[in-house]
Amino acid sequence: MEVTKTKTKEKSPEKVKIKGKWVVLLGAPGCGKGTQSEYLIASDFNFKVVSVGEILRHNKSTIVPGQVKTIGEIIGAGLLLPDEVVTGVVKLELQKMQSLMGNLADKNIIFDGFPRTIGQAKALNELAIEFKNSIDYVINFEIAEDILFKRILGRYKCSNCGKIYNDYFLQPKVSGICDQCGNNGFNKRGDDNEAALRVRIVEYYKNTYPLINFYKEMGTLYNIDAEKDFEQVKYCVLQILNKEYK
Ligand SMILES: [Zn+2]
Repeated sequence: MEVTKTKTKEKSPEKVKIKGKWVVLLGAPGCGKGTQSEYLIASDFNFKVVSVGEILRHNKSTIVPGQVKTIGEIIGAGLLLPDEVVTGVVKLELQKMQSLMGNLADKNIIFDGFPRTIGQAKALNELAIEFKNSIDYVINFEIAEDILFKRILGRYKCSNCGKIYNDYFLQPKVSGICDQCGNNGFNKRGDDNEAALRVRIVEYYKNTYPLINFYKEMGTLYNIDAEKDFEQVKYCVLQILNKEYK
């Protein structure tokens, strides 16, 4: 996540005071929510991110409680981890953030890659109460399946600074050289291969898609057309976050 710190700070005309907002980014793998959350973290909006995927990848050799497989093996196969494992990881992360930054009631937090099931969404509501906050915005990134596949299968990262590229949509300006840091090494994420991807998408529609209705009923759901380019999607995200300050 150091990626974005070297960028020129953007003084956004839409700049507003956003305080104590907890935001869930919802959408199939490859919908672009990760890129938007990187923007929000690097911007003046002062968002912290809880990226469950990143945390789990850091703990990939841990054996899943009650199972013989490691976290890495389950994620690598595109499968979902048990709710209590994921929820436990999120709770630990929030506790860690609280001890570093103080009370989370007035902190802006983005949840990326979480919740992924109704059980996790209910657990997140309870966690929010525990940390004296609530889920204010759930931004749902809508995207067609074929575009999703290209975005995921084509995605790779600079091995030095972490900047994200894509074979189909976003190549470095000079082939093989990172725009941001000049490095010439790149990594594909381990869980991005095609077989795992298909499993992930099936898992998404089976377990995560029902969250759209869950949050609609809570009155916190906002839909975004995630097939638009980064700038347009960013504009929509900012409009949602700015809503009550207009
Ligand atoms: Zn780089």
